[in-house]
Amino acid sequence: MRAVDYLADLVLGAQCPGCRSPGLGLCAECLPLLRAGAGAGAVGGLPLAWAADYRTVMRAALIHAKERHALGLIPPLARLIPDALAEIPGLAARPPPVALLVPVPTAWAHIVERGIDFTWELGRRGAKLAARQGLSLRAVRALGFTRRPADQAGLSAAERRENLRGAFRWRAPAPSVPVVLLDDVVTTGATILEARRAAQAGGAQVLGAVSLARRLSRA
Ligand SMILES: [Zn+2]
Repeated sequence: MRAVDYLADLVLGAQCPGCRSPGLGLCAECLPLLRAGAGAGAVGGLPLAWAADYRTVMRAALIHAKERHALGLIPPLARLIPDALAEIPGLAARPPPVALLVPVPTAWAHIVERGIDFTWELGRRGAKLAARQGLSLRAVRALGFTRRPADQAGLSAAERRENLRGAFRWRAPAPSVPVVLLDDVVTTGATILEARRAAQAGGAQVLGAVSLARRLSRA
């Protein structure tokens, strides 16, 4: 055990979210597992690339980062975004600036609770890292809410679509470059598809979407 991990355990009771071994953040064994189950496919005809399957260390990392103020997990999570972006068809071949990276909006209550806008932080950092790797994207907070949808947890796929119908709006000028959408977890695709609808209504061309995790629901 590193001395810093020993101290973190002693003083803070800090544990790796993946395996609960003492230490700050993800341990050296769990960190590479963040990329377990990366893949690409589509939701509602929209290309989607994700960094991990939800049923992995990713699930624990997301819960800690979002609900338990483990903000140190945000940089390793954001580092997964450029690889997912590289999986969006045609993106890398575009002349710079290739696209805007637009996160789905986060409810104000969650931002206050967490002290950060988690998805925006991912987008902001992810776009910077992608630009450093030659994929010149800029993150823009261009989507907002028209109303407050109910919590999506526990809703079926059809209920999620209904809950989110018309809930987002594009609040920026029509962009001159295409858009890639970003969410942390894609389950039924209802959120991403509402984001696509709103972006298209605002005059944006939507090339695809990226997420940290893909979670396949039974609904
Ligand atoms: Zn671990």
